[in-house]
Amino acid sequence: MENIWLEAQTNLKQVLTEQTYTTWIEPLKFLGATADTVVLEVPSSFFQKWVTDKYLSMIKEVLSAITSKNYHIEFHVAEQKPESSEPKAEREPKAKAKEKEKEKEQEKEKEKDKKPELVPNLNPKYTFESFVSGPSNQFAYAASQAVANKPASNYNPLFIYGGVGLGKTHLVNAIGNQILAKNPKAKICYYSSEKFMNEMINSLRYKKMDEFRNKFRKMDLLLIDDIQFMAGKEATQEEFFHTFNALYESHKQIVVTSDKFPKDIPGLEERLRSRFEWGLIADIQPPGVETKVAILKKKSDMHAVNLPDDVALFLAEGATSNIRELEGMLIRLEAFASLTGKEITLSMAREVMKDIIVEKTRDISVEMIQKMVADHFRIKVSELKSDKRIKTLVVPRQIAIYICRELTKASYPEIGDKFGGKDHSTIIHSVKKIEKQLAADADLKATVEEIKKRLFT
Ligand code: ADP
Ligand code: MG
Repeated sequence: MENIWLEAQTNLKQVLTEQTYTTWIEPLKFLGATADTVVLEVPSSFFQKWVTDKYLSMIKEVLSAITSKNYHIEFHVAEQKPESSEPKAEREPKAKAKEKEKEKEQEKEKEKDKKPELVPNLNPKYTFESFVSGPSNQFAYAASQAVANKPASNYNPLFIYGGVGLGKTHLVNAIGNQILAKNPKAKICYYSSEKFMNEMINSLRYKKMDEFRNKFRKMDLLLIDDIQFMAGKEATQEEFFHTFNALYESHKQIVVTSDKFPKDIPGLEERLRSRFEWGLIADIQPPGVETKVAILKKKSDMHAVNLPDDVALFLAEGATSNIRELEGMLIRLEAFASLTGKEITLSMAREVMKDIIVEKTRDISVEMIQKMVADHFRIKVSELKSDKRIKTLVVPRQIAIYICRELTKASYPEIGDKFGGKDHSTIIHSVKKIEKQLAADADLKATVEEIKKRLFT
């Protein structure tokens, strides 16, 4: 796990400025990790606050891009050294007192956590609106909507299964969010099966089993995520079995997810398995390129970031089917663009993703570009390479040269050679000219993107 942290640091180093990296990321020390939490040491609580505000989501995204898991990050403030070189705020007594107060409050919060209370635990970002449906997930999507619109009628339980990062957690949260939006008093609870197990064990330990049971049995909707983690955990399965029966008998909706079809989960008790088969079983398959592109478009819109089509296609083709990984790429690219103050382009995406996307080397040659540009403008390749200075040729020529520079490894003199033996300064001039115009001319930009997109398909 420590290696993963080192890898995360390396990734962060690439997207952050050197100063930001050395000031805020390098000092974070890996202390350890559990199944879902990474523990990092920070030099001070001021430091912790700053990192939490500014970089926490980025750290999480990077970790999830590497591991395909969503880790929580827990910070531990290092023991204070007498000769600390900490930011000033930390040494001011007032700030200290405030910190203390805050810590006390946090303690109180923790106390609250120990009591089994009914909190929905839903992620508000996971809604039907933010979910992109496509052929691979249509069935699970429609089933989830049906359940959200009419809980506990036709599809009970609803069992959703599919591979990692394909949207199971998103969908079950969307069901909960929709029901809660319609009926704020509905008693809803989202639980990972791990959390269910941990809470049960704690209740056993503190002799609070009755409280635990009653809490679950009062619910209108119970969402249990990743049931496969209960495999082989007999006591947990037994408890869940009784919870299930109690809810089912009182016509309450149950939704369960898993990475596999019920029959294929090893170590799952027969009686639970058969109950899962009472209702509806819906699968999610890996998304195709079109769905991946649609997801990228939606996410970038939500972040108010302009993601050109060719870049979306590049990411979608380079990513595995894990959508969390796809999101990780997008976040990384967006972070890079925002930190460098540049617009996202295909060449930037290639640079930023060079370690992540091993390109299916579709080598694009100068000749291919010349042909594509000539076809686009309905001129001859020979005209494109010629020295004729009429506008209908000059612009396509400059565009072709620009794209050659962007998409091939050819040097300026090499490009010059392939364009009828032009001087390398002519080539540089063309590239600069188009670069400059692209910023102001939307039509030109669309044309260039269209041509590039066709080169990749
Ligand atoms: P799983 O639980 O199947 O491992 P998640 O539900 O956690 O997967 O999805 C991983 C990430 O991908 C989440 O951030 C989720 O919002 C996003 N995601 C998955 N499928 C879609 C989709 N169809 N549309 C939009 N976002 C999606
Ligand atoms: Mg999940």
